[in-house]
Order: sequence, then structure tokens, then C-alpha cells
Amino acid sequence: MALIVQKFGGTSVGTIEKIKAVANRVIERHREGNRMIVVLSAMSGETDRLIGMANSMQRIPDLREMDMLISSGEQVSVALFAMAVKAAGYDAVSLLGDQVAIRTDHMHTRARIASIDARRINAHLDEGKIVTVAGFQGVTDQGDITTLGRGGSDTTAVALAAALQADACEIFTDVEGVYTTDPGVYNKARKIDYISYDEMLELASLGAKVLDIRAVSMAKRFKVPVHVRSTFTNTIGTWVVDEEKIMESMLVS
Ligand code: ASP
Ligand code: MG
Repeated sequence: MALIVQKFGGTSVGTIEKIKAVANRVIERHREGNRMIVVLSAMSGETDRLIGMANSMQRIPDLREMDMLISSGEQVSVALFAMAVKAAGYDAVSLLGDQVAIRTDHMHTRARIASIDARRINAHLDEGKIVTVAGFQGVTDQGDITTLGRGGSDTTAVALAAALQADACEIFTDVEGVYTTDPGVYNKARKIDYISYDEMLELASLGAKVLDIRAVSMAKRFKVPVHVRSTFTNTIGTWVVDEEKIMESMLVS
């Protein structure tokens, strides 16, 4: 039995049908006996839509209120996901950053995670529930909602995997993994099977969008094995791991 954190991005949960498909995919792994934590982004386009409304309200939107507003997209995703799981006959519970207790500093719209309380999630997992956590958000020690910066759900997933000592953190996206170059631009691009944290940091700093750079540094710091893979296929994607792990796998193969 493994503890697995799975993160699905906005395009993976962009419609009701897609959320149902994600729920079924998670249920499959749950049925195999794994403890499942599922981090979700807002439905695709939703965060941009919310930011657009804020910009039409105030020339420079108040950052605390901005966080109050843009954290709502993820709340919708996790609630619908938990309902989808229940509709399929399994049990789930959705949690906001505040309810987990994902504590951050006070830097609204680009907060950093300071600590994560594993107790409530573990209690729900012990009850046999699939636990879904809103990505991208946390709470200050004063109880104010913060967000982690655009693309921050990846960081939520890796941070939860580190805090709960998960066996793996799977980042589901609309491509099959990390490519040598952008597959959308250059069709001879080759998928990479294993990449080290440092090489991934370099790719991310060069603009590769498949995995957020802050999530990669967190994965490196806590040695969280990250598997970047496609939501829409079952193929193995790219493992982002320690240099030593790559050496071992090369020796074995
Ligand atoms: N919904 C947020 C964004 O669009 C966070 C994320 O998707 O990772 O940036
Ligand atoms: Mg992203």
C-alpha cells in the first residue's frame, strides 16, 4: 500500500465530464489499495477570468482581496471532484488550504509555504476516504487566505508529498511528460524518461511550463520523486528524481 499524491491541472478538470474522468482514474488507484491525496487546480480559464474581474474593479487590486477571489477557483474543483467520487460509490472529502492547515507567510499572491499539518489528512485517509485538497492556496497565522503565485498548485502537491512522506507525487497534465524540446513546436521532440532535479530546474528556468520551478526546488529539497504524466493516457511519463536514482536505474537496465 502506497501513499500517492496526484495533482491535476486546469485542463484536466476543465469540464464536468473531465472531472468525472479524473475521479474514476483516482478511484482505480484507490481500489488497488493506495492512500490517495488529490490536489486540483481551478477549471481551465477560471483563474484568468477571476483576475479579469478584479482588474475591472480596482486599477491595482488589493492583494488580500485578490487572494480571497482567486483562491475560489480551486474550491469549486475540489468540491465537484468529491461529489463525483461519491456519485461513483466511494468516499471523499474536500479540504481548503485553511482546513488542512497549509500555513504560509503574509505575501499575498505570492506566498511561501511555512508548514503543513498532516493530521487531518491522515485521519481522513485512515477512514478510507480519498482526500482532495485545493491547490494554490494557504492561510496565514492570522487566518487570511493566501495564494502561492500562478502555477502554484504544483507546489501544493509537492509540499503535501513532502509533509506526508508520500511514496510519489504524480503531476498530471496535457502532455505525456518532459520533452527535449516543446512537442507543440517541434514534432521530433523526444520524451525524457528520467531527469534530475537540477536538470529540471534548468529546463524550468528556460521556460518549460510542464512543472512549476518552485515545485521543482521543493522536490529537490525534500527528495520527493515526481512523475510528470498525461491525464488522458496511461503511459509512463517523466520521472524527476535524484541524480543517484538515475544512476541506479541505468545500472539496473
Ligand atoms: N489556478 C492557478 C493558476 O491558474 C494555480 C494553478 O493552476 O496551478 O495559476
Ligand atoms: Mg501548471
